[in-house]
Amino acid sequence: MTAVPNITLNDGHQIPQLGFGVWQVPADSAEEVVTTALETGYRHIDTAAIYGNEEGVGAAIAKSGLAREDLFITTKLWVTDFKQGRTKDALPTSLEKLGLDYVDLYLIHWPSPEDEKYVQAWLDLEELKAQGLTRSIGVSNFLPDHLEKVIAAGREVPAVNQVEIHPILQQREIQEANRKHGIATQAWSPLAQGKVFEETPVVQAAEEHGVTPAQVVIRWHLQAGRILFPKSVTPERIRSNFDVFGFELSEAQMRAIDDLERGERIGGDPATLNPG
Ligand code: NAD
Repeated sequence: MTAVPNITLNDGHQIPQLGFGVWQVPADSAEEVVTTALETGYRHIDTAAIYGNEEGVGAAIAKSGLAREDLFITTKLWVTDFKQGRTKDALPTSLEKLGLDYVDLYLIHWPSPEDEKYVQAWLDLEELKAQGLTRSIGVSNFLPDHLEKVIAAGREVPAVNQVEIHPILQQREIQEANRKHGIATQAWSPLAQGKVFEETPVVQAAEEHGVTPAQVVIRWHLQAGRILFPKSVTPERIRSNFDVFGFELSEAQMRAIDDLERGERIGGDPATLNPG
């Protein structure tokens, strides 16, 4: 039994609200780290082709003995693959590395908007979904105008938009656009990679509840309704980041963390960054 709530996506599929992210988990330790996460109780894993660790994730899944339907696995289409017209090969390649017949969620990793090739990539994702290679499809790092373009061109609305969100970069305009279209918001770098653990409202709430700053920030996302998948390679942190269902932030504590917004990014700006 797990206390992690499920969120129902706009296509009817359910996703565990709290998962485990594996960006920057080295390929040769991914199996061990993901095994610790699965033993802890995480059932939702967020990886990507570009992370280079899908094989390790797959090995941990195979070793776990868990039923496939009890897991929620996300991977992502990298920019060079869709820019060079390889979208329909990229997902089978990821599936082979993961040792799976399907993923639960497949995302366009980054819009790289200069030439709008992400629009064709979206149409290709719709086809991959129709073929049963992924249950749900979505996007990542899409700004509101990118969302409008794929919604206008496609038959489906993305199930999720995965964007950088943490207390010092809340992307309210993107969250509002997601809400307007019925798209679930996923927060990447939800802990700002540790950069917010000394902020006063975070420290105060941690002291008041007798929890860690990381647990406070995870609660802040959960109570706001966002999907998140904090990353750690340290077993104790992997476990404590999952132990967040025994306390609740007050409205005042939520608001004080909301007030930390200052537009400070960890990663690149999708409006201008065009990898691939
Ligand atoms: P994060 O905000 O989850 O922070 C992870 C870092 O925070 C760790 O490396 C560690 O230094 C620290 N940390 C974690 N738990 C801690 C604890 N309990 N106590 C103290 N320190 C702790 O950052 P992230 O890995 O960048 O983001 C999480 C996931 O989001 C990634 O693994 C990946 O799955 C996803 N992501 C997606 C994109 C995208 O473009 N779609 C980009 C970045 C990340």
